[in-house]
Amino acid sequence: MLSPIRLVSEAAELAARRHNGMVRKGRGKEPYINHLAEVANLLATATDGTDAELVAAGWLHDSIEDTDTTREELAQTFSERVASLVVECTDDMSLPKAERRQKQIEDAPHKSPGAKLIKIADKVSNIGARIQSDPTAEEREELADYSGWAEQVVAGCRGGNAWLDEKFDDAVKAARALL
Ligand code: ZN
Repeated sequence: MLSPIRLVSEAAELAARRHNGMVRKGRGKEPYINHLAEVANLLATATDGTDAELVAAGWLHDSIEDTDTTREELAQTFSERVASLVVECTDDMSLPKAERRQKQIEDAPHKSPGAKLIKIADKVSNIGARIQSDPTAEEREELADYSGWAEQVVAGCRGGNAWLDEKFDDAVKAARALL
């Protein structure tokens, strides 16, 4: 297996290449890689740098869902655990959005401890991107919709890391203050 630093560094590079040119939803149309960097860094901070595979999976968590990356490739390049963490965070894109959202709520409590942390970090990052000063009515509605759903998903994920749970609660509070 790659050394911890190489594991994280290779994951960041692969994510940057695969998501090249993609833009994230929300504030300022930031490059998609900003979202991945944020999720990876939340996970590194939450676990105090003790879990390189988790941080690598944070960089890669949207790679199967949004790019042509495969589980086999991740297992071979990184590790079986990195691959399975990413698979756990991959939605079935053949389902309509409402069903995918419902499935995330139902599946959340059955995820592995690492996947639960990735899902919380993902929601923290996505709520943050939707918080903007002086939102339009549409942006406000999108924020209310997203954070209400995220709370239901995270309800099934919390309890594994107090710091990350608190980050999520802070994000929801900041969202509510705008609504
Ligand atoms: Zn994501």
